[in-house]
Amino acid sequence: MGIKIENIIKNFGSFVALDSINLDIKEGKLTALLGPSGSGKTTLLRIIAGLENADEGKISFFGKDITNAHAKDRGIGFVFQHYALFKHMNVFDNIAFGLRVRPKNVRPSKEEIKKKVNTLLSMIQLEFLANRMPHELSGGQKQRVALARALAIEPKVLLLDEPFGALDAKVRQDLRRWLRRLHDEISITSVFVTHDQEEALEVSDEIVIMQNGKIEQVGTPESVYENPANPFVYSFLGNVNLFSGRVGENGLVLGEGETLFVRPHEIEVFLQKEIDAIEARVIGHRILGARVRLDLMAQGREICAEIPKLQFDILRNSGKNSVFIRFLSLKSFQDNEWSEYVI
Ligand code: ADP
Ligand code: MG
Repeated sequence: MGIKIENIIKNFGSFVALDSINLDIKEGKLTALLGPSGSGKTTLLRIIAGLENADEGKISFFGKDITNAHAKDRGIGFVFQHYALFKHMNVFDNIAFGLRVRPKNVRPSKEEIKKKVNTLLSMIQLEFLANRMPHELSGGQKQRVALARALAIEPKVLLLDEPFGALDAKVRQDLRRWLRRLHDEISITSVFVTHDQEEALEVSDEIVIMQNGKIEQVGTPESVYENPANPFVYSFLGNVNLFSGRVGENGLVLGEGETLFVRPHEIEVFLQKEIDAIEARVIGHRILGARVRLDLMAQGREICAEIPKLQFDILRNSGKNSVFIRFLSLKSFQDNEWSEYVI
């Protein structure tokens, strides 16, 4: 049993920020709250932390009702997007802070604190920076220190609000892999807020997808990606082509019909005419390293396909500006259900 959230409602004036949230967060797992800006992720995290009160509902940690417990009595560690390190303290003192301010009867000895901080420094791989001041650290290093500081008090629950949001892309990728590995070692019940689907898919054991103060779906990264509950989840978790069309005896006809969904990598691209393939004109491309995004025009509709760079090189060398495409997966959503077309 981890964190149980029951019927949590939060209004700001007449605005409903959280609309009856029910959620079980698994013990020892890393759970991502994923959703667009304004969907209520931070509000939910702050209510879990006790930094904000819900209007209604109940929260339990490991079977114990903590709805009315003060934040400092909940046993949580918190990491924010903007490194909240103490500017006037070096790295060592920042990490030691939470232990040093404990009441005397539960405060570890100086030696114990030193040992603990050194262990944490080695865990975040920053032993050599113990004496640096925050302004002498890079953004990524600051966030690792913030994490060590949050872990120093041995929290039962670790809460992270877009912890890598202010960092540049490469550092962010490195840090999320690092956090994933670290989490595999320490297995602390953690909730990670992000609006970045790639980050959520890569880092978490479980993803909670939110929109407008509601939960749209909960599941493992693989299950929500493979079986999205609805078009919102489908579109939020990856690139998508949306167009109207009909699948009949003669294959797919674009234009009138229902809304069809296909991901760019689910479109097969041929240089030669193929059975059941539609001719498409290449109107643009973007090279994304090993993959290339092709902008295509087929039957008056713009469609985006993604192909390997090697195939793109062959296309480019051929001098052709049209290709033939076939849809590997074509979905429509009606009456709350997906149907998949085989063409
Ligand atoms: P997210 O973290 O998903 O971007 P938030 O939980 O921060 O979203 O906010 C959800 C909604 O609640 C937003 O529309 C935001 O403007 C509103 N909101 C958040 N905090 C307050 C507040 N203290 N007062 C009024 N509105 C707020
Ligand atoms: Mg937020």
